[in-house]
Amino acid sequence: MEATRDVVIVGGGVIGSAIAYFLKVTPVFSVTVTVIEKDPSYEFGSTARSWGGVRQQFSTPENIQMSQYAQEFLGQISRLLGIDDTPVDVSYHEQGYLFLAEDRHIPRLYSNNAIQKGLGVNVGLLDADDLARGVPWMNVSDLAGGSLGLSGEGWLDAYSLNQAFRKKAISLGVAYSAKEAVGLECDAKRVSAVLLADGTRLAGSHIVNAAGPAASGVAKWAGIDLPVRSRKRYAYSFSCRTEITGCPLVIDPSGGHFRPEGRQFLSGCSPEPENDPDCTDFDVDYGWFEEHIWPILAHRVPAFEAIKLENAWAGHYAYNLLDQNAILGSHPDIANFYFANGFSGHGLQQSPADGRAIAELITYGEYSSLTLNRISFERLVTGEAISEHNIV
Ligand SMILES: Cc1cc2nc3c(=O)[nH]c(=O)nc-3n(C[C@H](O)[C@H](O)[C@H](O)COP(=O)(O)OP(=O)(O)OC[C@H]3O[C@@H](n4cnc5c(N)ncnc54)[C@H](O)[C@@H]3O)c2cc1C
Repeated sequence: MEATRDVVIVGGGVIGSAIAYFLKVTPVFSVTVTVIEKDPSYEFGSTARSWGGVRQQFSTPENIQMSQYAQEFLGQISRLLGIDDTPVDVSYHEQGYLFLAEDRHIPRLYSNNAIQKGLGVNVGLLDADDLARGVPWMNVSDLAGGSLGLSGEGWLDAYSLNQAFRKKAISLGVAYSAKEAVGLECDAKRVSAVLLADGTRLAGSHIVNAAGPAASGVAKWAGIDLPVRSRKRYAYSFSCRTEITGCPLVIDPSGGHFRPEGRQFLSGCSPEPENDPDCTDFDVDYGWFEEHIWPILAHRVPAFEAIKLENAWAGHYAYNLLDQNAILGSHPDIANFYFANGFSGHGLQQSPADGRAIAELITYGEYSSLTLNRISFERLVTGEAISEHNIV
C-alpha cells in the first residue's frame, strides 16, 4: 500500500526543516509531514556552507521583519527547539554588521536607515570621525560614513540551526526520508505525489519545494519555469598576526566582506553579474582570493596585509534571477504546490519566518503573523521585482 501524507516537503535543509517544525506547532492542525532529503550528511546544501549571518539592515520591510523574527526566535530557541529541556546552542554571536559607505553611498545609507528606524531596528549612523575613533584598526580615509547594527545582528552556526529544526521536527512526529525525489505526479491544477528514485511514490495533499539551489529542477517536474539558479560563492578563512578586537561583520563599499570566526576571519565577495555563471561544482578559486579579495582586505584593514589563508570552501546560493529575494507561497495555478525558494544570500536568517509563513499558508490559507504577499510567486508572473538595496 502506498504512503499518503498531508504535507510532503522536498528538501530538508534549514528551510524545509523549519517548515516541517512550524507545521507541527501551528495550532488547530493535526498533520502528517514527510521531508524528503537525499543528503543525510547535509554536506552539500547551501545551509552547511553558509556564513550564518543574521542582520536587520535591509531596505525592504519584509526582509527586515523576517530577520527581526529570526532575532526573536533565537532569543527563545531553547524553549522552542529544545528537546527534554536540553538547551539548544547554535553559537550565536550578536556582534553587529557594519556597512561602510563612500560619499556616493551616503544618500542610500540614510534612506535605508529611515526605513530601518521606522521598523524599530536598533541601528546607528556613523560619520567618518566616528569611524576613525570607533574602529581604530580600519583605514577610513576613503569613507564618508557607515551604519552599525547595535543589537539583533550577528552570526550563528548554520548547520546547528538546521539540525535543531530537524531534530525538533522529528521529535514532534515528522518523518525524514533519505531518498531522492525525481519527479512529481501532477496535472494543470494539482500536484498529487512526489516520485522517488527507488521507484516508489509519496502522495501528499500539499507539496512543498524546499530544494534550495535545486529548486528550479523540482518546479520543472510540474512544467513550471522557476527563475532560481545555483550560483557559486566562496568563503575564505584567514589568520592575522595582529589582534583585532570588537570586529563586527564588515561590508566594504567594494562588496568585499569579512567577520571574525573564532581566532580567524572569514572573507568573501559576490562577483559581478557578468562573472556569475550557473554552477553546481564546489571547486575553490584561490586566485580570486589573491587577486580580488586580499587587496580589498589589506586596503581596509592595514593589519590584513600580513595574513595567512587557512581554509576555503564553496557553496551555492539559490539565486533568484528576478530580484534575489525569496519566493514564498503557492503557485497561482497549482494551489497545493508551495515554493520556499530563491533566498540567494539571506535564507538562513529568514528560515524561522519562512517556516512559519508556509505553515500558516498551508494551515489557514493565508498569513496570520507577517504579511508576505509581496514576495509571492505572482511577482514572477507580473515581473514586479522587489528592489532590495542591501544585497550581499
Ligand atoms: C557561502 C554562503 C554564505 C551564505 N551566507 C548567508 C548568511 O550569512 N546569512 C543568510 O541568511 N544566508 C546565507 N546564505 C544563504 C543560506 O545559506 C541559504 O539561503 C539557506 O541555507 C537555504 O536553505 P535551503 O534549505 O533552502 O537550502 P539547502 O540547505 O540547500 O537545502 C536544500 C536541500 O534540498 C535537498 N534536495 C535538493 N534536491 C533534492 C531532491 N531532488 N530530492 C531530495 N532532496 C533534495 C538538498 O540535498 C538540500 O539538503 C549563504 C549561502 C552561501 C552558499
